[in-house]
Amino acid sequence: MRYSEFGLTTLKESPAEAEIVSHQLMLRAGLIRRLTSGIFTWMPIGLRVLRKVENVVREEMNRAGAHELLMPAVQPAELWQETGRWDQYGDLLLRIRDRHERDFCFGPTHEEVITDIARRELKSYKQLPLNWYQIQTKFRDEIRPRFGVMRSREFIMKDAYSFDLDAEGLAASYQRMYDAYSAVFERLGLTFRIVDADSGEIGGSRSQEFHVLADSGEDAIAYCDADGYASNIESAATLPPEGERPAPSKDREKVSTPGVRSIEALCEHLGVEATATLKTLIVEGTDGPVALVLRGDHELNAVKAQKLDGVAAPLTMADPGTIRSATGAEPGFAGPIGLDIPVYFDHATAAMADFVVGANEADMHYTGVNFGRDIEAAETVDLRNVVEGDTTPGGKGTLSITRGIEVGHIFQLGTKYSESLGATVLNKDGKQQVLEMGCYGIGITRIVGAAIEQNHDDKGIIWPDPLAPFNVVIVPINLQRSDAVREASEALYAELQELGYEVLFDDRDARPGVKFADAELLGIPHRLVVSDRGLEEGELEYRHRRDSESKNLKREEALKLLTK
Ligand code: ATP
Ligand code: MG
Repeated sequence: MRYSEFGLTTLKESPAEAEIVSHQLMLRAGLIRRLTSGIFTWMPIGLRVLRKVENVVREEMNRAGAHELLMPAVQPAELWQETGRWDQYGDLLLRIRDRHERDFCFGPTHEEVITDIARRELKSYKQLPLNWYQIQTKFRDEIRPRFGVMRSREFIMKDAYSFDLDAEGLAASYQRMYDAYSAVFERLGLTFRIVDADSGEIGGSRSQEFHVLADSGEDAIAYCDADGYASNIESAATLPPEGERPAPSKDREKVSTPGVRSIEALCEHLGVEATATLKTLIVEGTDGPVALVLRGDHELNAVKAQKLDGVAAPLTMADPGTIRSATGAEPGFAGPIGLDIPVYFDHATAAMADFVVGANEADMHYTGVNFGRDIEAAETVDLRNVVEGDTTPGGKGTLSITRGIEVGHIFQLGTKYSESLGATVLNKDGKQQVLEMGCYGIGITRIVGAAIEQNHDDKGIIWPDPLAPFNVVIVPINLQRSDAVREASEALYAELQELGYEVLFDDRDARPGVKFADAELLGIPHRLVVSDRGLEEGELEYRHRRDSESKNLKREEALKLLTK
């Protein structure tokens, strides 16, 4: 491709809206342009990268025996009402009304549509196992679109759906997708980790996520290489502490804590560690508010909390009015003593003695509080996020925490959708049997951002070879004024294309420094410089994007380097 022909503009400065490096570089390199919040155009070079991702995914899906189809993006409300998700899916669902006042949504996912196809097309166990997939645009009205294409509202997903007669078949189909996903991310040259995951509102039993590891990742991952454990922190379980509860050694005292509403302020005011305090969070419940009590330094895990009996999902913090009527005090002074609403205590609180809690009275806390004496020693539950150093759920090792970007997610759905939509086939005995389903998603557009998070330097993107929009960039020096350079560059451009390379020919009338900077920003793996001086020696200047120095090489040698 000739640079001068496709109207690309690169930016020197990062646009202010871009918080993380991949978003900055995608805008600077002109891969994407924002239309409105969370909605982007893929410009020609960006689209080349996107197609590479798609092709690798498509090849591996086909290799795994899945069949590509293309479902509609717009879906009728009736189907979503049949599964109950028209109401459950909430504000993420973009709802649309047609001229006849009929309700539709722009598909955020396609379980309903695929199961509708299955209930019509699949009649017999002989048609199984089956896996249908598509690569298609989804829309989710994300509350906080950010990080460019990583959390956008409109995005492209590869979604696959497997159909089996029984749980054993489903397990095998799931394993095939697990292997195919592993192959995809290996081929793309990304460093990734497979972790246990929460099944979220899609439902079902087993589920795992594929994460590209990056410090900017929105997800925290808990892992322990020693015992092969890895889980999204959302679903990483904590264990109750071992051994006896420590005995009280202090008397309970009510202390004045004027204006002290946070754990941090409390610790400073009383000169205690956060580990010696309890925090009491009031959340909305299905039948009035509920209190969740954690050790002061621990973080509430929303996914775990919203699964508890009586706690509303999605987890919602109670408003100040509710807190006042539930605790009798201003927000910031809640505590479990004398609280007249359901209370859940986190496991970690079971190991505590002589701690500080809110007194349910403005500007007051209790110190020296103990279970058994001041608060009934209730059963504890798993409420918090794991932290570095926690014991693994298997009890054999300790956890480390790293960050990741979720690029793929595989689920064993079971019969959740086939049952509500009535998707059955005749089994060997001639009886109707409900289909076992799996669903499998890959964030095609998110992968491009994730790849950049993992592969860049201060000059720009460094594409892994399988993702590079071009393999080679030709940078001619003085192209507009030197016939020798023009002839040699054109010949090189033609020859490299003939050899099957994807070549960017920087034929612009621009200073070499500008061209070099753009080639680096765009992250093209191989760069060949054609100059009068080089040509006199029969040489080209070669540099790999990862190298810090260029080499002058005979033309043949340079071409040989590319084939390597
Ligand atoms: P997240 O937890 O990041 O919101 P999710 O678990 O809701 O994602 P899935 O329903 O598992 O997403 O969708 C499959 C894949 O689609 C995800 O693994 C992710 O790679 C991609 N994806 C989901 N939401 C978005 C989004 N808003 N923008 C870009 N890609 C997305
Ligand atoms: Mg997911």
